[in-house]
Amino acid sequence: MSRANVTTAALAASLTLIGYGAWAASAESHIAAAIRAAGKDQTGILSLCASRASGAGNNTAEPAKVFDNLYFVGIPSVSAWALTTSDGIIVIDALNNAQEAETSIEGGLRKLGLDPAAIKYVVITHAHGDHFGGAQYLADKFRAQLVMSSIDWDYLAALSPVTNPARGPIPKRGLSVRDGGALTLGDTTIEFTVTPPHTPGTLSIIMPLKDGERRHVGAQWGGTAFNFRPIPENFTAYIDSAEKFSRVVDEREADVTPSNHPSYDDALNKIAALKTRTTGAPHPFVMGKESTLRFLNVAAECAAGYQQLCTPCAASRRGRPAYATAAIRGALARRRRDGANGRAAETADDGARSGASAQRTDGGAGARTEQAARQRAFSRRRSASRQCEAGEQHGR
Ligand SMILES: [Zn+2]
Repeated sequence: MSRANVTTAALAASLTLIGYGAWAASAESHIAAAIRAAGKDQTGILSLCASRASGAGNNTAEPAKVFDNLYFVGIPSVSAWALTTSDGIIVIDALNNAQEAETSIEGGLRKLGLDPAAIKYVVITHAHGDHFGGAQYLADKFRAQLVMSSIDWDYLAALSPVTNPARGPIPKRGLSVRDGGALTLGDTTIEFTVTPPHTPGTLSIIMPLKDGERRHVGAQWGGTAFNFRPIPENFTAYIDSAEKFSRVVDEREADVTPSNHPSYDDALNKIAALKTRTTGAPHPFVMGKESTLRFLNVAAECAAGYQQLCTPCAASRRGRPAYATAAIRGALARRRRDGANGRAAETADDGARSGASAQRTDGGAGARTEQAARQRAFSRRRSASRQCEAGEQHGR
């Protein structure tokens, strides 16, 4: 290596170190924004900023009727949902393996008084083993059609066979849906938005929900954790997907956030709350549209926070960036200790604080202001991420 190259390398290294401090500080500002956006009602998704919530301990859960047409048939570490229609059942996600699908989905439906033979479709939100592992079992036993994005079917086809004994086999290719596509069974239509990069073809889903006479709309964020390659471009894609699905949530007036992992939507606590719900009382899963949008805001802010630590992320191209997790955990702990949650909301300068405007009436002007604030927040995050990508390219 020539002397000039050595000097350049040393300079780049020191700039990287200086840059890291600034990015860490900037990461903290995103975490603070995420905490504000989470408010009191979306703290489950906030765990995304710190680490993946574990499903350790007892990994069985009681099946539960959540809406008149939506049933939880999952386990504590990963959700499966059954959407009932006038012409059969759509299952969303298939758990880790055949045994879990048999016990929790098939057995869960029976316990709830539903017939698993009525399963017509199994929608797989994305091509990870905790969502597709039990799919082939359901397809074989109930002649259910498997549905995934064409992008993720292609992605699965390129993977080597599953060797983890806790995970079921890669299912045979079934029906494909595209971005903006829909699936109709009987009286029910669900709609799909492709939201990478959790996997390249992750499907986020809009679904109609019934609670007695009331009608609601569920918005399921199809791939939440940052277990993709930790490079700046992927975090940008994540933020873009959150914005894209926010527009759909806004248009469809979605007011429920049924997650595919119970930790993110606090599903098990909400199910417990449902048991003591009195007639006419609010439904614990109905968060409102404003809260549903904040769920996505929290996810995007956490992504932006991680992305600000992109140089060290890029240094570790495989696995989770542990130091980023530590920095973000530290920021979260400081925020909690300082009780910044309430105070910060008063002085927030971006759209992530829309939680603070919940008391605003839903008049046209208010809605437009909120939409504009949301767009500002997304473009702020995007420009931060471009800077980060530029810094990353120089750092290579
Ligand atoms: Zn996944």
